[in-house]
Amino acid sequence: SVSRPPAIQEVRLQLPVVAEEQKIMEAVHNNNLVVVYGATGSGKTTQVPQFLYEAGYGSANSPTPGMIGVTQPRRVAAVSMAKRVGDEMGDHGKRVAYQIRFEGTVGAETAIKFMTDGVLLREVAQDIALRKYSAIIIDEAHERSVNTDILIGMLSRVVKLREEMAAEDDSIKPLKLIIMSATLRITDFTQNKTLFSDPPPVLQAEGRQFPVTNHFARRTHHDYVEDTFRKISKGHKKLPPGGILVFLTGQNEITQLSKKLKEAFRIGHTATGPQVRISGKDAPMEAEDVDFGEAMDDNNDDYDDDEVDITVDDEDFKLEGEEEESGPAKMHILPLYSLLPTREQLRVFEPPPDGSRLIVLATNVAETSLTIPGIRYVFDCGRSKERKYDRTTGVQSFEVGWISKASASQRAGRAGRTGPGHCYRLYSSAVYERDFQEFAEPEILRMPIEGVVLQLKAMNLQHIVNFPFPTPPDRQSLASSEKLLTYLSAISPTGQITSTGATMSIFPLSPRFARILLVGHLHNCLPYTIALVAGLSAPDVFLPENQVVPAVAVKEADEYFTSADRIEEDHRNSIRRKFNKVHKDFCFLDDKADAIKLLQVVGEFAHEPTEAWCRDHFVRFKTLKEISLLRKQITDLLKTNITAFAGLKYQEKLDPPTAQQVKALKQMVAAGFIDHVAIRADLAPTPPDMFRKPTRAISVPYLTLFPSHARNGDEEKAVFIHPASPLSHLSPQECPDYIIYSYLQRAVPNPATPDKIPKTRMHALTDIT
Ligand code: ADP
Ligand code: MG
Repeated sequence: SVSRPPAIQEVRLQLPVVAEEQKIMEAVHNNNLVVVYGATGSGKTTQVPQFLYEAGYGSANSPTPGMIGVTQPRRVAAVSMAKRVGDEMGDHGKRVAYQIRFEGTVGAETAIKFMTDGVLLREVAQDIALRKYSAIIIDEAHERSVNTDILIGMLSRVVKLREEMAAEDDSIKPLKLIIMSATLRITDFTQNKTLFSDPPPVLQAEGRQFPVTNHFARRTHHDYVEDTFRKISKGHKKLPPGGILVFLTGQNEITQLSKKLKEAFRIGHTATGPQVRISGKDAPMEAEDVDFGEAMDDNNDDYDDDEVDITVDDEDFKLEGEEEESGPAKMHILPLYSLLPTREQLRVFEPPPDGSRLIVLATNVAETSLTIPGIRYVFDCGRSKERKYDRTTGVQSFEVGWISKASASQRAGRAGRTGPGHCYRLYSSAVYERDFQEFAEPEILRMPIEGVVLQLKAMNLQHIVNFPFPTPPDRQSLASSEKLLTYLSAISPTGQITSTGATMSIFPLSPRFARILLVGHLHNCLPYTIALVAGLSAPDVFLPENQVVPAVAVKEADEYFTSADRIEEDHRNSIRRKFNKVHKDFCFLDDKADAIKLLQVVGEFAHEPTEAWCRDHFVRFKTLKEISLLRKQITDLLKTNITAFAGLKYQEKLDPPTAQQVKALKQMVAAGFIDHVAIRADLAPTPPDMFRKPTRAISVPYLTLFPSHARNGDEEKAVFIHPASPLSHLSPQECPDYIIYSYLQRAVPNPATPDKIPKTRMHALTDIT
């Protein structure tokens, strides 16, 4: 039996879930499928795996020897929860491990395995009976990520299969499936007849551990980063000791706020941000765990921010009935977002230096699962950045919008994990009541799903509509996914998987990239194709200019331009020149193809895979490290799965491709995206009337093969070159006739100028000549 450290035992006994241990385990004993609902902080994630463990699950000589698998939607949650449960289990701590993409601690003695849901999905594809496991816990099911939804659908079938196998063979045991949720929106699972013919029992743990008081703002400010800055500054001075967790929408905002706070509170910092050291096998990001980097923010060229809300909120941070003791004077500021290396993310779990207050600036990553010790206050901007996807046109955008009431309560819950807490909501209760939906829309309704469809077809499901989705995807996205897969020859016209499709499904790549890979050996290009698709699969290799070049300080009307300002401006200009030169040099093989530029970066990095090189070249070390690992993985998969490539050797360092190879690579990329072609508008059969003659490449209008906008005005039909593309440096006359793009993106509309339609921009891959 497990002997736990006394301090842990004490905390544990107060958790609502622990009071329900017996009921939960009885239900698990009598049913192969159980749903556990408990408010955030009730002890689900840390305790339920231990209940199973103590009941003998995961122990070699018990009747239920397989591992206990626990899924998390995010890497940082998988790693930190494994650590916490390991600590709680004292002398049995070694039996807890984690597995995330490219990194893990699982060994022969592992009994409880925390993993991202993407990891388990790949395991189901390899063994549909999941024989390694005696029980699976799907945690945070309320988040409704695509992976979680697909897993629940698949596991509902795996449970049945194991029941049948167990009935025939005594040595096989049924699989226990436990779905855990922090909200009661579980009827999509429990009342879903295609998913579970009999509704599963729902076990409920009452109440959260510590109370959290919500404070609404009197007014909702338009500029919430500024508002957050004001309120944290004030709160830090007035609030009793305790860490602050701040929810913002993206890395850009976090960097901006961190800088402002550090300046205002005079905290020493380096211009290049935190120094990061991670080892070669350190965790790169999950394919499914894509944070929206600031590269997504930077095309807001229609934005103008004249309208400043000057209302001052009179929040005075007096906590009723609490001691009037203010907190420590120093701030210890840490960022937390998913593009940050895992080790950097894990720093928030360490205690802050003596005499300082921990301030964590986080995105949605911190919304579920995590307990950051010592956090007593949450400041919630009430917004998040979401990928929006237009089903008809395929145009995507990243929009900041209000979160749901369920998310707001998850965020607030982070303040009550290790003691009573307070949540300062930077929006009014009127806005909350009027504009916040009860629950967020499941992700499967907001994303292109050709990858999911290919995976399901590869598992011999011919009619996707028969799959037990918790929420079925929209018919139109299903139809367009099947169309794309047919065109990529992954499925036959009657919807059956082809042998090409089956091979494509083996790779952890989106179907288009998998297809490009399979033609990639032409002209001896294979090592380059591998590097290229690995590069294209990773988000945000490049640091955007606005994060590299320091911003101009805003001057009051009566302030003079000083010599210090002159020095600063020179500094800014020299960085900008260096930035432009680095980008130009990356294009030396080809100045019209983003794809070839990326290949060049991947290639150069392989020759000098250091952080210093990345810093000097304004690219992300973490992302490039991930690309290297993916190159290796793709090479291994090609070797083991395709006989013709059995002799393939992994070449980390490549010589530059020849001109002929560059040309071939561009053609291959184009072939994978031929439906994503845009023609320069003046060459179109019926050129639109654009009124103004473009003076820059980024204002040259292009037309797509399929309409890119639901509206019909000429202005709206056109799409434009993205300012980050090498193509943006051409003169309007040099702009290519045809461009292949990976996707279209619309800028966020500016609330100040609602009539002005933001431009749709192409994320270009290559020109075609
Ligand atoms: P749930 O999954 O229901 O939201 P958890 O099992 O994650 O709840 O956590 C339950 C409680 O265990 C937390 O509220 C906190 O009191 C304690 N706890 C969890 N992780 C840690 C940690 N890393 N440090 C300190 N306390 C923790
Ligand atoms: Mg949890």
